[in-house]
Amino acid sequence: MASNAMNDLGFDPNALREKYRTERDKRLRGDANEQYQEVVGDFSHYVDDPYIESKIEREPLEDEVDVIVVGGGFGGLLVGARLREAGVDKIRMIEKGGDFGGTWYWNRYPGAACDVESYVYLPLCEELNFVPREKYTHAPEILAHSRAIGEKFELYRDACFQTEVSGAQWDESINRWIVTTNRNDRMLAKYVVMSNGPLNRPKLPGIEGIETFKGHTFHTSRWDYNYTGGGPQGDLTGLKGKKVGIIGTGATAIQCVPHLGRGADELFVFQRTPSSVDVRANHPTDPEWAQNLKPGWQKERMDNFNTLVSGGYADVDLVNDGWTEIIRNLASMVNFKSDKPLSMQEIADKMEIADFQKMEQVRDRAQTLVDDPDTAESLKPYYRQFCKRPCFNDEYLETFNLPGVSLIDTQGKGIDRITEKGIVANGVEYELDCIVFATGFEVGTEYTRRSGYDVIGREGQSLKDKWQDGVRSLHGIHTNGFPNCFIIHTSQAGFTVNFPHAMNEQAKQIAYILDYCKQSNVDVVEATKEAEDEWVEKIIGLSRFSESFQASCTPGYYNNEGKPNPKSVQNGAYGAGPVKFFEEMDAWREEGSLAGMKLS
Ligand code: NDP
Repeated sequence: MASNAMNDLGFDPNALREKYRTERDKRLRGDANEQYQEVVGDFSHYVDDPYIESKIEREPLEDEVDVIVVGGGFGGLLVGARLREAGVDKIRMIEKGGDFGGTWYWNRYPGAACDVESYVYLPLCEELNFVPREKYTHAPEILAHSRAIGEKFELYRDACFQTEVSGAQWDESINRWIVTTNRNDRMLAKYVVMSNGPLNRPKLPGIEGIETFKGHTFHTSRWDYNYTGGGPQGDLTGLKGKKVGIIGTGATAIQCVPHLGRGADELFVFQRTPSSVDVRANHPTDPEWAQNLKPGWQKERMDNFNTLVSGGYADVDLVNDGWTEIIRNLASMVNFKSDKPLSMQEIADKMEIADFQKMEQVRDRAQTLVDDPDTAESLKPYYRQFCKRPCFNDEYLETFNLPGVSLIDTQGKGIDRITEKGIVANGVEYELDCIVFATGFEVGTEYTRRSGYDVIGREGQSLKDKWQDGVRSLHGIHTNGFPNCFIIHTSQAGFTVNFPHAMNEQAKQIAYILDYCKQSNVDVVEATKEAEDEWVEKIIGLSRFSESFQASCTPGYYNNEGKPNPKSVQNGAYGAGPVKFFEEMDAWREEGSLAGMKLS
């Protein structure tokens, strides 16, 4: 780009490209996903449930139901709801937590709230005649809504809480799944739906000395209010007089750091890579607006949001927030109404400039809001917007102006080690009373490892073995050799930032198939190998568009920690975007023959 471009834009694209490359290279590491400590053995207490009030005592179950749904988060609840609508009677939800809620059951850290607008994020609002209290509503209301879905669709009836599936095996002699659990249950089901969640398994940094620390520790997804005091609204009075360290500055830390900053005497935020933190502008729901919503409002709003965040065109922007603004800016650069079609390269170049412009605004925001110039500089993210989850928050950056709060910028290296007394970073030991791990969740590890159990299909084939070189599915949902089994996840299916939207589409698809089987007296339904092979090829082909983008990104769970490889590409989402994926699924249902599936 010529130098006069810098005068027009206010920045030099070449210099930024170089800066992005340098920052990424600082963070690339050979061990990628292997750098993390799995929460097993001595670390398994990090996933104990701190929220259960009393342990459920019950006899083991040996019975039969129509459908077993593994996972009581939004994915499982949506499947349960859609199956109820389709007239399925015996639905057994199995959930390791003490109640429904999934992500929102576990993530109760102070400040937790949805970062996608609640009117499109919370599923089944119209079915429950419910409008959330705030544009970005807080976690307790989302958890309560999960329970309300369970009540409304009578999913508590046969549910098993505090129960972990230990295995699922297809018995060909009776055409039933046998599902076993850690409570010695042995349940039969005609169908199994697995909705284990994409971010269900916390991970820890695999750091030297992590087991030696003598103070208190916990992971953000198992917040220890007994220690910190307060609740999801904050007021962490238990941290008075305490020195607290938090490792990680992703979307979770952005929300809880303001509360830790206010509660602790001293807070040290250990940063490896800064997040992009833009304006959130939350506000209470306008009651008049809520009262005047017309039937069909939620679907219309969800579709509108999904179209816009997928780069499509819509006459109106109903949500009109940071998410849609990002894409609107990118799209306006490409100029949809242009008479002269742009080449792919021209589109990519224009998108890159729009991306630079937005990220310059985000960096300026840090500069403006943070008093100390060095801290402000450290908080500036130098990468493309979608290399990591964009964050929106109106308190995080300002927290670094509080007297007891320090940012410890590790310049991309991460902390050095943990000692008996605290954390060593940049060669300096910080003595601490408590370490909070905001280090995220396993992504990119094996599906069956994250689920915590293996699935055995026809002829004793295990899902772990079948997927060892990568996921093989039809539509992300079915896999050959595993009849009457459905999987809700992000691999090889449509992914959108509004994740419940994608899960709702998958739930509709599953309900359609079960209804079809009932109407046509079909006992066993299974993807054919040919259809599966074709789908896998398609997924790999579509991913080529994003390959160079992924490789250019700073490491994170979006790009397999900086090491995209054929397996991570195969395990990725449907590359043509969620709008196209949903259209393809609609067309598949309209065609009406369950194409690509064997029925018997
Ligand atoms: P992330 O994986 O996004 O963040 C983990 C953090 O830990 C990163 O900042 C990472 O740094 C840091 N880290 C890891 N190892 C080390 C180390 N050795 N030293 C220092 N830092 C380290 O997890 P989150 O829990 O923040 O978020 C996960 C996802 O959950 C989000 O992306 C989002 O999808 C979802 N979420 C959604 C919310 C919502 O409102 N709907 C709210 C919160 C989360 P680095 O970046 O360098 O890897």
